[in-house]
Amino acid sequence: MYDVIIVGAGSAGCVMANRLSADANKRVCLVETGPPDKSPVIHIPLGLALLARSKGITWAFSTEPEPQLGNRRLYWPRGRTLGGSSSVNAMIYMRGHPADYDGWEAAAGSDWGWQRARELFIAMEGNQAIADAHHGSDGPLNVCNLRSPNPLSRVFVEAGVECQIPENDDFNGASQEGVGLYQVTQKDGRRFSSARAFLEPVRGRANLTIETGALVERVLFEGRRASGLQLRGRVLSLNPGGEVILCAGAVGSPQLLLLSGIGPGEELSRHGIAVVHDAREVGKNLADHLDICVLAATRDSTAIGIAPGLLPRMIRSAFAYARHKSGELTSNVAEAGGFVKSDPARERPNLQFHFLPCLLRDHGRQTMFGYGVTLHVCDLLPKSRGRISLGSNDPAAPPRIEANYLSHPDDMAVLLNGLKLARRVLEAPSMKKHIKAELLPGPQVQADEALIEDIRARAETIYHPVGSCRMGKDTVSVVDPQAKVRGVEGLRVVDASIMPSIIAGNTNAPTMMIAENVARMMMVR
Ligand SMILES: Cc1cc2nc3c(=O)[nH]c(=O)nc-3n(C[C@H](O)[C@H](O)[C@H](O)COP(=O)(O)OP(=O)(O)OC[C@H]3O[C@@H](n4cnc5c(N)ncnc54)[C@H](O)[C@@H]3O)c2cc1C
Repeated sequence: MYDVIIVGAGSAGCVMANRLSADANKRVCLVETGPPDKSPVIHIPLGLALLARSKGITWAFSTEPEPQLGNRRLYWPRGRTLGGSSSVNAMIYMRGHPADYDGWEAAAGSDWGWQRARELFIAMEGNQAIADAHHGSDGPLNVCNLRSPNPLSRVFVEAGVECQIPENDDFNGASQEGVGLYQVTQKDGRRFSSARAFLEPVRGRANLTIETGALVERVLFEGRRASGLQLRGRVLSLNPGGEVILCAGAVGSPQLLLLSGIGPGEELSRHGIAVVHDAREVGKNLADHLDICVLAATRDSTAIGIAPGLLPRMIRSAFAYARHKSGELTSNVAEAGGFVKSDPARERPNLQFHFLPCLLRDHGRQTMFGYGVTLHVCDLLPKSRGRISLGSNDPAAPPRIEANYLSHPDDMAVLLNGLKLARRVLEAPSMKKHIKAELLPGPQVQADEALIEDIRARAETIYHPVGSCRMGKDTVSVVDPQAKVRGVEGLRVVDASIMPSIIAGNTNAPTMMIAENVARMMMVR
C-alpha cells in the first residue's frame, strides 16, 4: 500500500519521486517498465550514436503512415530505462522562449507563466559555466559546457555569423536568437540524466520503492477514484486518499489513460474498454518538431567518422576518457546549433539548428562511411497537430501515433526556408573551406518543388512530442492547472504530455520543470 505511485521513471518521474519521497511519512513507489540504467552507452555521451541500435533501453515506436511525408512510417525512439528519454537524449540543456510560457499562462494560469518557470529553472540548475542572473549554480541538475567540442562545431558558429546570424553564448540567457555551442546536462564528462540528478541521491530513502521491469497495464478505480495499478499478474494499491501520478511520457501517458477507461467514449467502447470518464481530448493536440537535414562530406579527418584510422583514434579517445573524462567520447553529437527566424518579419525565432560534426542518417540506424557534417533544422512552432490512440486494448502493444506532420499548410513553407538557410550556412566561407561535397539533398536538388519533395522524402522527428494530455483552465482539457485528470479523483499526469503548447526548443528541462512545479503544488497542501 502506497500513498503515491508514480508510473514511469523518466525526466518527470524521477523529479516527482525525489520531491514527494522527501516527506518521510509518505510511502512512494516509482514503477518503470524498462531496466536499470546500467549500460555504458547511456553514460558515455558519445554512446548516443549507438543508442538507436541498443535494444531494450529504448521504445522503438513508429508513426502510422504520414500522408504528407509520402506515407512513410517515422521512427520515434523514446527512453525505456531509469531516466527515460533523459537517458537516451542528446543532453542539450534548453528552456525554450519566454513567449512559450506566456502561451502556457494564457492556457493554464499564472502558475505556468514565464516568471514562475524561470524561478524553477534557476532553482533546479547547477550551472558549472555561467554564473549570472539567468542561471542557478547550486541546483541538483548539473549543466556545463562541452569538455572537448569538435573544431568543426566552432566553424559552424563562424559560418552562422558570416550569414548575419548573431553569435550567442547562452541560449537560456538574455536572448534565444543566434548560433553557438550548446550547454549540456553532463557532469564530469558523463551524461547527467534525470535519474542521476534526482533518483541516485535518494535511492536509500526507506519510504521510496523503485521497481524496474514492471509494465503498468492500467489504473484501477473504485468508482471514480484511482485505487491502484494493474501490473502484469499483480496489483499495486493506494492508501485511502493516495494518488497515482502518470509520468509515462507523451506516448505512454495518453495510452495508459485510454487503457484505464479515460478517453473518447466511442473509441474506448470499440476496444471493449469500460468508460470511466468520457474525455474527448485524451491523445489529441499532439505536437512535435519536424526536422530536415543537410549532409556534406568534409575534406579531412577533423569530423568524427567511420573511416580508416577509426580504431587508433577511438583507442586514443578511450584513453583520454579513462584518464581525464575528456576527448571525443564526451561529445553529445549535436554539439552546436542555434535559433533563427524563417522570415525577418517574425517576432521570435521559429527554426532551430542542430549541428553534428559527423555524418548521421536515419537516427544512426544506417551506417555512413567517411568524414562529414550534418546540419539539422526544425520547425519550432508547427501548427500541425496529431494524436495518440489505441491500436488495441493490449497494454503491451504500441499505440497508434498519427503525428500528422505538415497537415497545416503553413508548416511546409517554414521548413523549406529552414532547409535553404541551413544550406547557406554550410556554404558560408568558413565552412565551405572544409566541405568537399553536399551529399543530401544533393547539389542537383535546387528548385523549391524539388526541395519540397526532398522534405517529404526525408524529414524526421527531432524527438519532442508533447501535448497529448493537454493541460488547461478550460473544462475540456485533459488535466487542470494542478495536473489533475479531469472527471476522476486521485490521478494526475505530470510529463511532456501536459504541455498546453509545444516549446520553441528542446523539451527535457521544461519537462523536469513541469514536475518540479507540480511537486511543489502537492507539497504545499
Ligand atoms: C533521442 C532523443 C533525443 C533527445 N534530445 C534532447 C535534448 O538533447 N535535449 C532536450 O531537452 N530534450 C531532448 N529530447 C526530448 C526529451 O528527452 C523528452 O522530451 C523528455 O525526456 C520527456 O520526458 P517525459 O518525462 O515526458 O518522458 P520520458 O522521459 O520518456 O519517460 C517516460 C518513462 O515512462 C516509462 N513508461 C512508459 N509507459 C510505461 C508503462 N506502461 N509502465 C511503466 N513505465 C512506463 C518509459 O519507459 C519511460 O522511462 C530527446 C528525446 C529523444 C528520444
